[in-house]
Amino acid sequence: MRTINELAAQETLRGRPAGFDVERVRQDFPILRQQVHGKPLVYLDSAATSQKPQVVIDAVTRYYQAENSNVHRGIHLLSERATELFEDARAKVARFLNASDAREIIFVRGATEGINLVAQSYGKMSLKAGDEIIISAMEHHSNIVPWQILCQETGAALRVIPINDDGELLMDEFKKLLNARTRLVSVVHVSNALGTINPVKQIIEMAHSHGVPVVIDGAQAAPHLSVDVRALDCDFYVLSGHKLFAPTGIGIVFGKAHLLEAMPPYQGGGDMILSVTFERTLYNVVPFKFEAGTPHIAGAIGLGAAIDYLTEVGLDKIAAYERGLLAHATDALAAIPGLRIIGTAKEKAGILSFVLDGVHPHDIGTILDQDGIAIRTGHHCAQPVLQRFGVPATARASLAFYNTREEIDALARAIHKVTTLFG
Ligand SMILES: *Cc1c(COP(=O)(O)O)cnc(C)c1O
Repeated sequence: MRTINELAAQETLRGRPAGFDVERVRQDFPILRQQVHGKPLVYLDSAATSQKPQVVIDAVTRYYQAENSNVHRGIHLLSERATELFEDARAKVARFLNASDAREIIFVRGATEGINLVAQSYGKMSLKAGDEIIISAMEHHSNIVPWQILCQETGAALRVIPINDDGELLMDEFKKLLNARTRLVSVVHVSNALGTINPVKQIIEMAHSHGVPVVIDGAQAAPHLSVDVRALDCDFYVLSGHKLFAPTGIGIVFGKAHLLEAMPPYQGGGDMILSVTFERTLYNVVPFKFEAGTPHIAGAIGLGAAIDYLTEVGLDKIAAYERGLLAHATDALAAIPGLRIIGTAKEKAGILSFVLDGVHPHDIGTILDQDGIAIRTGHHCAQPVLQRFGVPATARASLAFYNTREEIDALARAIHKVTTLFG
């Protein structure tokens, strides 16, 4: 039997995977039609933030043009309509992640706020001095710093799963780290710096066999593969709307209902209460208990529209197309003399971090920009993992389903040019 990777590579060679038409998809993203420095824009920075399809832009515009009103408190028609759209968006997220109940979806600003919510609410409630939290060596700063803050506040300690030279977790080491003091595991599903897809199902099973709940940082996973929180059996899953073709400033935390119900509020204010007196406040039910203040209503509606759009295109088709694209990009970059790819895991999503002999990543990014090619350079909010590979920074090209083989070829040509300039 052939692997899915081989099948996908073959399909993309023949043209396009069945039912996936990248040129049609590109028509849905107006920003991609523009020129940058007189060259067609080649956007390879979707891991920093993704572009938005017209349907998402339209949903946000329509909300402000025709539906704008505050949610949950109004008696008038517009407020009822806004509330309905906002709660519809929550239900869409729940279906998208296969959560059993929309109550398990909390709207937050993004993955960062989501992890801070879990740390400050669940973490503070359940950790004490001497307890341990396990993260991995490839975490985004968002999945390191909130736990360090929690450790400072509680006296708990952080433990780190090491990785191999390909950027894969050392599962034997993870097994050794799990012990009677472990209270929580929090790992990234897909690494934004390396592209590694972690075996989160296995991690969750191992942690659960010790009675330890697991948080998954899904910011980079949701745009590339279908996520099923019930099949994974994760306790918390966080994602960012803006990485998922939706607006900035919106994201979600999925949490199992019984955990959310036991957790104290994260912030206090309007909407998260049932009644307030100066003596005593009764908190609202889940999920509203965690949504103090006026939420990003337009953002949530935009996220719902992005999910509708992704569902229509089909995440399985997207994943198959991107695998072919990544294989092509890996071959094209590996053929460039002096180029080293950082992150060569067997299971990878469309992220290519690399360094070039004798060229600072910043210079690569600047020269590529002159050719209209947008990549990211720097530490990608993941300094510890770059330290692990002995580099302070990399250049990173990150793919989305609107990218083409021609764009990858343009990237490879531009990097070749950089090597001759510095050669
Ligand atoms: C982007 C990202 C985050 C943080 O997301 P924000 O939108 O900045 O809150 C966390 N983890 C990973 C893996 C990311 O790529």
